[in-house]
Amino acid sequence: MDNRNESSETLRNKCAACFRQFNRMEHLVEHMKISFHSVHEPMCGVCKKHCRSFESLREHVGLMGQLPKLECKSIFTSRGCRFCLAIFDSPNARRVHQERCQLSAVHSGLLARMANLGFRDNLIIDNVYARGPQVVALACKMVGGGSDGSHDLCARVCIIDENENIIFHSYVKPPIPVTNYRYETTGIRPEYLRDAMQQRQVQKKIQDFLCNGEPMWKIRPKGGKARILVGHGLDHDLDRLEVEYPAVMIRDTAKYPPLMKTSKLSNSLKYLTQAYLGYDMQTGIQDPYEECVATMRLYMRMRSQSHMIEDYPLASDPQNRNNFAPRRQNELEKMSPEELLAISRSDYYCWCLDSRD
Ligand SMILES: [Zn+2]
Ligand SMILES: [Zn+2]
Ligand SMILES: [Zn+2]
Ligand SMILES: [Zn+2]
Repeated sequence: MDNRNESSETLRNKCAACFRQFNRMEHLVEHMKISFHSVHEPMCGVCKKHCRSFESLREHVGLMGQLPKLECKSIFTSRGCRFCLAIFDSPNARRVHQERCQLSAVHSGLLARMANLGFRDNLIIDNVYARGPQVVALACKMVGGGSDGSHDLCARVCIIDENENIIFHSYVKPPIPVTNYRYETTGIRPEYLRDAMQQRQVQKKIQDFLCNGEPMWKIRPKGGKARILVGHGLDHDLDRLEVEYPAVMIRDTAKYPPLMKTSKLSNSLKYLTQAYLGYDMQTGIQDPYEECVATMRLYMRMRSQSHMIEDYPLASDPQNRNNFAPRRQNELEKMSPEELLAISRSDYYCWCLDSRD
């Protein structure tokens, strides 16, 4: 920046994370109190700017939108991975990486057939000897109930483990009559549900499987037996299944701030799969197994982010709750932008933290 009107005072008031500039130091301090910048934010590999979401980072490096940062765009275009957004030393290193980074859809047709062969309805709660999968993904297919068929009812459910193996896959008989099978997207016919497992029974099995012997009230984010549950829009799935599960154990790709469109709007799973995994989901009849695979892969990708390790990573951790509040305003205004960033903590739980114990 060589804008002649820019005083050194203004440069001093530049946020060390998002690079916004403020006329007065007190405004930067105010910004830091509400921005929750942290090492867990998506960051440009070229200029190190922090972004609130991968979507804004994609705009910044010119993958979408109209306002890229030109220097970053030109480096990204030759050496950046369009899926994980990392920057490599050479175009060749990028090419080698990107082939691995782009996950295949395992030939959708084959995948769907495998899923159909894989019907399993005997969910087993781990005994003391086998710990079993600690992270599972769940997806449902909904049919319609009610007079106009608009009331969602779960008619098929799938659960997979971290290695994309099917753990549970079953048709479900809803508690009220189905008035619209939505065949074009569900592929479900009346005869499939006639002798299917009752929803009450499915609810119980899934509930027990997730808690894994842990009483609900005892479930803690770490160190217990309860499983981490991955999915897209899980509130709705769990609501329809009447399964209750504590929010601390849920990893929802529709609600994870780095994967959202804006702080209020989610991206579709189809879009996320295309943008961050590099393949297209099936159109037409969709198999919940394919949705489980996509959400599990997104989760794994987010979990494998390598971020700086902090003992107390969240703004809500008791040790950080007062990082800004107890300091006097004039004390904060004397700190450098880097020092302010150093005491700032995230307001969301970054999934990279699941990979540490
Ligand atoms: Zn900022
Ligand atoms: Zn992180
Ligand atoms: Zn940049
Ligand atoms: Zn990549």
